[in-house]
Amino acid sequence: MKNILTLLILISLPLVSVPLVIGCSPVVPLEEVSPQQSAAAASRHTRVEAVAKKTEIITLAGKGYPVPKQWQGRRVASRALGFEELALIPGQLSHEHSKLYLLKDAQQALIAMAAAAREDGIQLCVHSSYRSSWYQRKIFARMFAQGRSYEDVIRYVAPPGYSEHALGTVVDFYPSNWRFAATPAYRWLQQHGSEFSFQESYPQDQPDGHPWEAWHWRWQPRQHVLSRSHPF
Ligand SMILES: [Zn+2]
Repeated sequence: MKNILTLLILISLPLVSVPLVIGCSPVVPLEEVSPQQSAAAASRHTRVEAVAKKTEIITLAGKGYPVPKQWQGRRVASRALGFEELALIPGQLSHEHSKLYLLKDAQQALIAMAAAAREDGIQLCVHSSYRSSWYQRKIFARMFAQGRSYEDVIRYVAPPGYSEHALGTVVDFYPSNWRFAATPAYRWLQQHGSEFSFQESYPQDQPDGHPWEAWHWRWQPRQHVLSRSHPF
């Protein structure tokens, strides 16, 4: 229990990008993609509604809130991961040497992929990885305490129980925002990520209109691809 608590304390979710990079080299976008362009791409699909038989509700601090359309039907089947199942991402691969964790097999795959990228002159830098559902709730609690509304927070924080980060197989690369799509690292991942069983979870132009998250990649080896409900 003490180990788990330590882990939860160590895992951080940087909500603000800090220009100073200690762990990985800074990623320089080749071209600018404006937030307006990203928003326009996302809004093209708002007409296509996610299949939802009934409104999905999450409970935060004893109160029910509706799950936004883009998250409906995307609840992640996950269990609480034990500290012994997780492995630390090497400091040279994590932004500002943050202590970030993945399931052991996913961590090994990430290390192999980063080594291959390095041979091609590409630095992969991880901004965020395993986050428990409990931690996701903590983010909401902190934001509520700051006076932020649910509608405000839910725009950029996944509802607890809906974040793939709870699986322990997902990384957000740095910078974990729309700028990442214009980086050489993103182009390299598009070409080579699948060789290491990493896939973009929320690619551009999805039929259900889920926003594009170019920075968010999930390790999903072939034997697990067919069963989406598997904890991997
Ligand atoms: Zn993510």
